[in-house]
Amino acid sequence: MPRQPSRDAETSSRQLPVRLAPHPNELLSSWIGRHAEFYAVRPLAMLRHGLPEASSLHAADRSLNGDQVIRLAGVFSIEPAVVRRMTFSNVAPSSRRLIAARPLQFCSACHPGEHEPRPLLRSQFLGWRITCPLCGDLFRRARGHDRPSPFDRHHGAALVGERLLDDEAERGPRTWTSPAEIARLLLMRRVPRPLPREYEPWRFRVLGAIIPDLDEVVERRSLPTPANPILPLHLRPALLAGVAIVERAGPEMLQMLRGQMMGQNQARFSSAVSEIMTHTCRSMASSQLQLI
Ligand SMILES: [Zn+2]
Repeated sequence: MPRQPSRDAETSSRQLPVRLAPHPNELLSSWIGRHAEFYAVRPLAMLRHGLPEASSLHAADRSLNGDQVIRLAGVFSIEPAVVRRMTFSNVAPSSRRLIAARPLQFCSACHPGEHEPRPLLRSQFLGWRITCPLCGDLFRRARGHDRPSPFDRHHGAALVGERLLDDEAERGPRTWTSPAEIARLLLMRRVPRPLPREYEPWRFRVLGAIIPDLDEVVERRSLPTPANPILPLHLRPALLAGVAIVERAGPEMLQMLRGQMMGQNQARFSSAVSEIMTHTCRSMASSQLQLI
């Protein structure tokens, strides 16, 4: 009696005869795209060879479930953990809004121009990074000219902030609150005192109370919006340094920054800070219990 082919048999019948090795830190869609070029098929057809239900490469980069990772790994004869590391599936929900839709940056040491087409690396999409995770060099802008960062003197603190945000995104929060939530609060509007003569409300952010140079250098089009919450590379060190400073100072600093705001913004900031404080007290209480 004929038997239904098992899942394993089905996967092995789809296994590709030639498999290209992924580059370090390569994004899944880039790797699939290189296979598509090799086999002369469209990239989505290549992905669907492994995952017939896949809707797009963009979606596959962002979320694959465990079963999909295993099936795709089977077709490409590679370890499931390697496939998973090529995606953003592991990124904490609080950090997902800081993953860009297009590459933001590149490392000129790890991503030289002689390979055409160049593979896309996962780190090129991460809106909290200023350095390359492979070699530690500063990233350069993916499009347009590089702009010198006016925040060089905060470089050390910015690297600490980058590590805090990276740890949270890739491994879950490990500090008294979510660094991504601190970053969000720091980009809310504040009201400077005394009010400048030519008051432009969009210009003044809570972050400017910690890194005063910021107020002068921001441009309206470079400030993040809910639709595009990622700061351009030359301004990002200020935010990363701000996150590091608040994280080190503790929740009291957020309480103090509340005084920089007015009206509805202050109310929104206050309720976010109260939530953080409640959560912090609860986790401190539970860690104290563990000590007893
Ligand atoms: Zn590099």
